[in-house]
Amino acid sequence: MTLKLFNTLTKTKEDFIPINKNSIKMYACGPTLYNNPHIGNFRPIIVFDILFRILQLKFGKENVTYVRNITDIDDKIINKANELKISTNQLVEEAQKVYHEDLNHLSILEPTYEPKATEYIYKMIDMIKILVEKEYAYVSSHHVLFESKKFKEYGALSKLSFKDIINGARVEVAEYKKNPEDFVLWKPSKDNEPYWESPWGKGRPGWHIECSAMIAELLGPTIDIHAGGLDLIFPHHENEIAQSTCCHDQKMANYWLHNGFINFQGEKMSKSLGNITIMNELLTHHNPTSIKYAILTTHYRQPIDFSNDLLKYSSNIVSKWRDFIQESTNNDLDQAFLEALEDDLNTPQALMRLQQIFNELKKSPKDKELSNYFNNGLSILGLIPHYQDLEINLDNDHIENMITRRADAKLNKNFEIADQIREELLKEGIILEDTKSGTKWKKI
Ligand SMILES: [Zn+2]
Repeated sequence: MTLKLFNTLTKTKEDFIPINKNSIKMYACGPTLYNNPHIGNFRPIIVFDILFRILQLKFGKENVTYVRNITDIDDKIINKANELKISTNQLVEEAQKVYHEDLNHLSILEPTYEPKATEYIYKMIDMIKILVEKEYAYVSSHHVLFESKKFKEYGALSKLSFKDIINGARVEVAEYKKNPEDFVLWKPSKDNEPYWESPWGKGRPGWHIECSAMIAELLGPTIDIHAGGLDLIFPHHENEIAQSTCCHDQKMANYWLHNGFINFQGEKMSKSLGNITIMNELLTHHNPTSIKYAILTTHYRQPIDFSNDLLKYSSNIVSKWRDFIQESTNNDLDQAFLEALEDDLNTPQALMRLQQIFNELKKSPKDKELSNYFNNGLSILGLIPHYQDLEINLDNDHIENMITRRADAKLNKNFEIADQIREELLKEGIILEDTKSGTKWKKI
């Protein structure tokens, strides 16, 4: 079956046709690291990690390049660093450490590149210069602004007209702007803010230009898939399209994918409601597999009602799976399971099918085909459960993570990597034992 994806640009589910099937390019907007990321930041990471795995499965691992950035400079970061009287670098580094630990616990594959915005300021300046030369952008009081109405297709992604944008107060009115809908590409830094030298004075980039610059530098002017949260459609992605298309005279991305929000007791998650759930805190109380399962019970485009009940329900299911985790003897996937995932990442359907396979496997535990379908299904969803519940014990997590990585490597016939992981653990005094119910470990 052809992979089908819902494209926000056309508002339809389309067959995924890559520009070059030997070089598939995907980008997802990552978190702004001004504090420890919350579960809302992780939803796109979890669902687009599954898309990354499916693309690798269908087109070959070496043929998919996935970039997921880290925003390490913006107003929130500067304000928080000033509040704590530390540098923005220190603030980001501390949050990044926690973020990476969380990613490991959740068995998220590493993207091909994980660039940070401040490493690409030179590229942002280059692109802004081109936009000024082409007269899509103008300089005003040490700011550089993109003149939105000069881009004929502005609003094509969000389906918003300039009237909607202005009347809906979705843009800031400022003296230095020619028109309210124009957006900032570069702005002067205040005295206590980090700055970079530029043709327009000491300053820093606006937020939107960073993704355009990192995409152009790491992937090229046109990519296959651009993904992110629903809240990024306007203004972030609309502005990315405008500046990239005008800079390169080429379409920016063919498929735009957006995930829905996470609600708590029916309310949209927002800081003011005080219901942000920090992933790192959730992971101290819940098994990572349960958290992932809970997120995947809802289709990625729909809002999730996140609650303790949902986590309990999820934990109950994944704990039953534990005894049936085995190393697969091939890469075969159940057809109905795969078809569900290929149908715009229908994870609730895929999980239902996996449960049916599990029920059959319970009746015939020796059936190798069922066991392979079950374990390969778990693997493609990144749901190989940890054997012990997470007990705020980083050593255990580290070992479990290595075991998961080894299982993944074996599944993909990377036996060299699988052996390396075994060796690495042995050096740390951990011995692995492959049993019928999965890989066990003990200290030497
Ligand atoms: Zn972005």
